[in-house]
Formats: sequence, structure tokens, C-alpha cells
Amino acid sequence: MPVTSRKVPFNALDRQNSGALAERMAEVSRRVIDSGWYVLGAEVSAFEREFADYCGTQHAIGVGNGSDALELALASLDLPEGSEIAVAPNAAMYATLAILANGFSPRFVDVDPRRATMDAQAFAASITPRTRAVVVTHLYGALADIEPISAIARQHGLKIVEDCAQAHGAERGSRRAGSFGDIACFSFYPTKNLGALGDGGAVTTSDDGLAHRVRQLRQYGWREKYNVTLAHGRNSRLDEMQAALLRVKLPLVDGWNARRRVIATRYSQGIRHHAIEAPPPPGADHVAHLYVVRSEHRDALREHLQRSGIGVDVHYPIPDHRQPIFGDRYATVNLPVAEHLARTSLSLPCFAELTDEEVALVVDACNAWSA
Ligand SMILES: *Cc1c(COP(=O)(O)O)cnc(C)c1O
Repeated sequence: MPVTSRKVPFNALDRQNSGALAERMAEVSRRVIDSGWYVLGAEVSAFEREFADYCGTQHAIGVGNGSDALELALASLDLPEGSEIAVAPNAAMYATLAILANGFSPRFVDVDPRRATMDAQAFAASITPRTRAVVVTHLYGALADIEPISAIARQHGLKIVEDCAQAHGAERGSRRAGSFGDIACFSFYPTKNLGALGDGGAVTTSDDGLAHRVRQLRQYGWREKYNVTLAHGRNSRLDEMQAALLRVKLPLVDGWNARRRVIATRYSQGIRHHAIEAPPPPGADHVAHLYVVRSEHRDALREHLQRSGIGVDVHYPIPDHRQPIFGDRYATVNLPVAEHLARTSLSLPCFAELTDEEVALVVDACNAWSA
């Protein structure tokens, strides 16, 4: 049998959204249709309560997508013009775009080679008199070193924004992603660990004032109807249909995350190759959103796996400070760890509905690479 006849997809959303779960989603969709109320209603309110409880925060505010969550969270902090925001350069520009959209400047901070998340010491060294906040991205599902970063931020009076778009349910001690910072951002893009059937996002916080401001910002900056009191307001609302679907899925996330960890553990234990560096098996602080190996011959490995019928991807190929929009603005900025990771990282299929047989196929294909 030619190897290409047995394909392992990088993602297969139709597998999750099928069977009994699809039936229940159809039922709640019907409920929303029949309700005659489609924006900011009972489903969104109930989801916001349930999601805040899940994250261990006082508030969750549903918004249009994860990028808007970042942009509105930053806007809610009411930082002065010209503020610099510390951010890691290896998370596909999401946070950086939100910083730029608010008129702030990114201050790129290199990452820790082990977890690929912001390096606490590099963060401390990067702080200038204009630094006002830090965005901490929990990348690939791994909680960042948020405790030391938060301690440094508090010493300097900086606000802490978490980007949890890849880390729904990741926990350390008794705290979950989204409950460490002043404010946090989630995406419910369909491939995330909690995914809608379209775009969606949320902001979590336990600060009443910030929650109130984000609620205003997502609805034109209104204080009350047609009374605009906040700049940076816009229309960015989670809709009733997505909220109802997310309510069906939320109780299942921990189970899916556990299955993702089992898959990641099998990869970590099974991949034995001199030219592939596999990450250690994930603990509770890692929800295995992506399974990312490293290789000095990444492009050859990618080609080999694609030829073997394995879906792969690169997260992410261009560090933020090397993105074309910046021209040579950051030409003299060198962030060696992030730059090295962009050249060597390769993501293998990692989603809860992969079969054990598919996982074994991926392991065998890696080990059969003749590098
Ligand atoms: C997906 C993602 C976002 C953006 O979310 P959207 O809903 O696609 O706008 C932001 N940050 C990270 C780390 C992400 O993975």
C-alpha cells in the first residue's frame, strides 16, 4: 500500500462536531432561532457566567473574536499615548497587532527556549520608563512563567494582559489561564481547545472597572444607548448562536484537553530520532493546543511528513519583529531564541479526535525519516 493512501489530517473539525454533540448543537441552535433574539441575550449572559466560573474570574465578557479581545482589553487599561507594551515576538502578531491598533509600541522580549513563552529575565531587562503593560501569551497550550513575570510587572507598576487563545483550561496550583493577570483574552476560533462554529472571543477579569469598560467598548463605547463615552469603542459582540454552541461544548473541554495530553505524551515517548527534538510530556499546566517539535532540518522533515500523508504546519514562520509591515524598524533588534524557533519549529497533528492508530502513524513516520 503506498504510504500516501493513509492520511492523517492536521485538523478535522467535522469529527468533533458530529454525532450526539452535533445533535445537541442542532437543538440549541433551534432554541436560538425560535427565541427571536440574536445579539447580547440570555445565551451570552449564561455563557459569560459559566466561562468566568470555569476560569476562576469574576467576569467574562463575550466579544467578536480573540483579536478584538486583545485590542479591547488593552484599550480598557486606559494607558497614556506613547506607551510601550512588552510582548513576545513568536505568537503570529496577534498581540502586536492589538498593540499597534491602540497606538502603542511593541517592545519585543525574547522567549525561554524550553517553553517558547516570554523569558522573565529578558522581560525585566526590557522595561523602560515608557513601558506600561505586558502581554503574556500562553503559547501552544503551555502556561507561561506568569508568576515571576507578574511579580516583575507589579514591582514596576505595569498592567498584565494574558493571551489565553491557546490555553483554555491550563492550570497551575489552583489557578487557571485567564485568572493570573489584570485582564485576559480568549479566542473561540473553531480550531482552539474550545471552538465555536465561527468566530468568537472573550475577555476575563476580576476587576469590576475593567469589566465594565470592556462591556462598553464592545458596544460602540456606549455608556447607555446612543451615548458614546469611550474612545476605541466598536461593535464586537459574541452572538447568541455561538454562545449557545459554546455552552454545549464548555463542559467537554477538560476531557478533550486530557485526550490532547495523552496524544502529546505518546508523541513525546514514541518519537526517537537524532534530528528531531520532541518536547517533554505535558503536565496540567499544558493543554496541548499544538504539538511542536524542533529540527535543524525542519523543511526536510516537513517535506518527508507531507509525503508520508501527515498534515503538518509551522507555528510560526516569521517572528513579529521581522514582519514586512515593520520594514527595517527592528533591523538591529536580535531575539535569537525566537528567531531560531521560527526556523526549526514544526507542528504535528494534535487534536482530541485523532485515533490511536493515527497517532502511531505519525510517530512511525517521524522515526522513519532518513535525515
Ligand atoms: C488564535 C489566536 C488569537 C486570535 O484569535 P482570533 O479569534 O483568530 O482573532 C490570538 N492569540 C493567539 C495566541 C491565538 O492563537
